[in-house]
Amino acid sequence: MTAPLAADVLIVGAGPAGAITAAELARHGLHAVLAGEETGEADYDLVLSGAAMRGLASLGALEEVAARVVDTVELRLGQGAGHVLPEAVNAACDRRHLVDGLRRLAVTAGATWLPGTVTDLERREGAWHASTGDTTVSARHLVVATGAPSGGTPHATGLLCAQRYSGVNLTASIVLALPAPRTIDPAERPTCVWAVPGAQAGTCTIGASRIGSADPDELLETARAVLAEGDQRFAGAVPAGPLVTGVLNSGFAPEHSVRDGRLLVGDAAGLVNPFTGEGLSYAVQSALLAARAIAAHPDDPDAAGRAYTRRLSATFVGYFETATHAARRYHLAWRVLVATADDERPVSAKLRRAVLTPDGFSGLTAADLMPLPAPDVALLGPFLLACDEVAVSTVRKEWPFIARLLIAGEHSPHQRLRPAAPFFAALLAGGNPPDTAFVTLAAAIELATLGALAFLGPMPPRAAPGRRVDWAVASTVLAGDFLLAQASRLVAASAPEVSWSFADWLGELAALRSARIDPAGRSRAGEVFAALLEFPSRIGAQLGGAPPETIRALRDFGNHSGHAFLHAEEVLAVRGERTRLDVTLPGMLSGRLSAIPDILPEVTGGLLAGDPDARSRALDLAVTACRDAHRAALGALENVAHPVSARILESFVATVCAPCAPAPAPAPSPAGA
Ligand SMILES: Cc1cc2nc3c(=O)[nH]c(=O)nc-3n(C[C@H](O)[C@H](O)[C@H](O)COP(=O)(O)OP(=O)(O)OC[C@H]3O[C@@H](n4cnc5c(N)ncnc54)[C@H](O)[C@@H]3O)c2cc1C
Repeated sequence: MTAPLAADVLIVGAGPAGAITAAELARHGLHAVLAGEETGEADYDLVLSGAAMRGLASLGALEEVAARVVDTVELRLGQGAGHVLPEAVNAACDRRHLVDGLRRLAVTAGATWLPGTVTDLERREGAWHASTGDTTVSARHLVVATGAPSGGTPHATGLLCAQRYSGVNLTASIVLALPAPRTIDPAERPTCVWAVPGAQAGTCTIGASRIGSADPDELLETARAVLAEGDQRFAGAVPAGPLVTGVLNSGFAPEHSVRDGRLLVGDAAGLVNPFTGEGLSYAVQSALLAARAIAAHPDDPDAAGRAYTRRLSATFVGYFETATHAARRYHLAWRVLVATADDERPVSAKLRRAVLTPDGFSGLTAADLMPLPAPDVALLGPFLLACDEVAVSTVRKEWPFIARLLIAGEHSPHQRLRPAAPFFAALLAGGNPPDTAFVTLAAAIELATLGALAFLGPMPPRAAPGRRVDWAVASTVLAGDFLLAQASRLVAASAPEVSWSFADWLGELAALRSARIDPAGRSRAGEVFAALLEFPSRIGAQLGGAPPETIRALRDFGNHSGHAFLHAEEVLAVRGERTRLDVTLPGMLSGRLSAIPDILPEVTGGLLAGDPDARSRALDLAVTACRDAHRAALGALENVAHPVSARILESFVATVCAPCAPAPAPAPSPAGA
């Protein structure tokens, strides 16, 4: 028997989740013992999503695990051509390199590596005790990273398999294929197939996941056949490695991730997407969250457990519910995905991401971060957090992907570009501390804004003749209506005195929208965005008791900021960069979402695509219009006396206009003013 080991944290299981937990704990100066079986890892390639890559990069581990960036993800839905998933940057990585690299990383950071199976685990006198071979370990905290347990609930359990192939010409893409449902049974569970390039030229790994029972040989053969159908790259694929299988456990619920004082991470917590079988990014993220929760409460395991549950809820809100809903209603989800595959409206782009890729939600919510001094954050942060809670709890049951959209991203609520921020700042403008009762109204404003945006953008391609339901339109209308209805309900319940103004605002948005949809409509594109930001600024000032001239100034501020937002979108789109609303330039033009044709009628979409000169004229025009609107918004702020209010609003509009930086000088005050 070797001398007993005493540590701060014992981590059982040394797969990706366990090794990362140990590395992160060691970085926080805690003594972590990483105890795990040394099963020889089979050679096959894994897909690392963007979120997994960012987590690994934060540990400096991307080189250690020999990750290879693959910047195109092709999505294939049934038969037919693939769709490129924009900005779904991923990496490929050998499973053995990943696990060995992460274990090395943990040891280098200072963790103790203890190879072997952990047995005799028990909690006595406030500490955990366990054995590995002839070594006993005791520790205050316990992290369970033992991978997927067998025996979950049928709707959440399935099979994952993968095998390396040669003779495949796949170099620069990851292919993700969702075959059409095989039966007409509405309860049929999804199958997902993927192919990821190997490090050796001409090799790739083909993988598949299926919820429910499945035979691995049959599942992998299906996967190969699905990929080979109409795609010559897979025609000559021959197996070049063992068939590897594992249990898919997707029964995640934050409240079940701490059991009897043990923190469960990765697959052990059921953190696997039931739709795609992806689990690594959650293994990485949950490991980091668990380690940080323990580091924040090194002497109090119960507090660490509570903090971990909270952080998990916030990080994965809506995501697993969305994927689980989609998996349970595969027929519907598949049809909506097929119908909206080329639909560029923000609501469809975000839905696609919510179901298929966990990250990439930075668009509307987190593309640009609002910098604010700490005392302002201390004021604004709690208000926005409370607003998030109300908004999310209003929609998460019926439309969890919207809940995901509302709060996802890796940034604090106060940093995101969102209408609740100017609303809060405007409440302050009267000089009184903002009434927390208005949190619910802020949530209603955010929901209504999303609802209005759901209807904006290019129309999806026309339904094929004979198809009875246009799923793209149906899902958009349902999501948009649901949001607007929930927003109105919140206002009626929390601030009945503004119900009329709120209804007027929704009516105005509807009128502006329909004028945009109607090709003969006369409204200008910027008016929709102006209306979207004018209301929160004006009504906030009114409710906060600001004097009439300040209310007028804030109305103008909202208007100008809305126009500035649209022009900033145009600047991003013309430059070919991702816009906050997730639309491209052709999408903006065909959806009549751009002011460029209002100002330069001769500049058509085709001209913009092919003529650099027209492009540069359009860009100059959009930059100038954005800076003008920015300047006008700053001018309006001269009538806002409250310094914190003015500072938040200034930061808000500067963030809106960031794509057109440098910021303009404020408009000169009128002589004698
Ligand atoms: C074939 C296959 C292909 C996959 N492909 C992908 C992919 O391409 N992309 C992706 O994102 N996800 C993929 N996944 C899912 C992904 O591999 C998992 O989500 C991820 O490995 C989870 O990490 P983990 O550390 O939680 O668990 P695991 O990787 O399962 O590690 C758990 C470790 O704990 C050890 N252990 C268990 N019990 C004990 C004990 N009592 N004592 C000591 N050690 C113990 C196990 O031996 C194992 O080493 C795939 C899964 C499979 C099976």
